[in-house]
Amino acid sequence: EQDVAEYRNSLAIRVSGFEVPRPIKTFEDCGFSPELMNAIAKQGYEKPTPIQCQALPVVLSGRDVIGMAKTGSGKTAAFVLPMIVHIMDQPELEKEEGPIGVICAPTRELAHQIYLEAKKFSKSHGIRVSAVYGGMSKLDQFKELKAGCEIVIATPGRLIDMLKMKALNMLRATYLVLDEADRMFDLGFEPQIRSIVGQIRPDRQTLLFSATMPRKIEKLAREILTDPVRVTVGEVG
Ligand code: ADP
Ligand code: MG
Repeated sequence: EQDVAEYRNSLAIRVSGFEVPRPIKTFEDCGFSPELMNAIAKQGYEKPTPIQCQALPVVLSGRDVIGMAKTGSGKTAAFVLPMIVHIMDQPELEKEEGPIGVICAPTRELAHQIYLEAKKFSKSHGIRVSAVYGGMSKLDQFKELKAGCEIVIATPGRLIDMLKMKALNMLRATYLVLDEADRMFDLGFEPQIRSIVGQIRPDRQTLLFSATMPRKIEKLAREILTDPVRVTVGEVG
């Protein structure tokens, strides 16, 4: 009986927000390019997970999103796939102007996992991905960022270091993801997060993912997201 309850919970979806796009049922519903559809198929992703069904159309519509779903529910692709679309929609510049997509994650392991997922879907689009986190040579990371990228995935402390070193600027950044926001707060990254957010133009699209929603995170979300849509899948804190 507990299995049944668990199963039903895993399907329970709540979405709130003004004029929220309908959930999609298949990746075909997303209007992705053939290249992206191929990359998805190559991953063996046959159909979107529940959080992806809800979040993909909302993120693709350009809205800010607060996403809550437990670990392993497929949140990464829910923000990486629309990020690829977002980047392909931007004009190409002759001069390098820094990343378009900026993803903050609490730990180097998580940043690396997101990096691998982003690489899978960006390769066929000629989109460059850089990951920067502690424990790696700052000089190497500086050089890599200087060479240019469209996506940067970073732990907050190291990203601040790189910004101070002028390894990159945020002039072109319009798509910001805060992944595992509660863990970033637990690790004491709130000041760094606020500093990073403050350097990105206010008309950006902002996505915040968190397993739990303590009051501190709610407050941050209220301050840095614009009219966000809440997407909650299953039973979360
Ligand atoms: P979360 O961030 O919610 O913890 P992840 O994004 O890390 O979850 O995804 C968990 C696992 O599920 C990963 O191995 C990922 O490759 C896989 N995955 C994601 N989306 C799908 C899908 N639509 N179909 C099958 N597997 C998927
Ligand atoms: Mg995740």
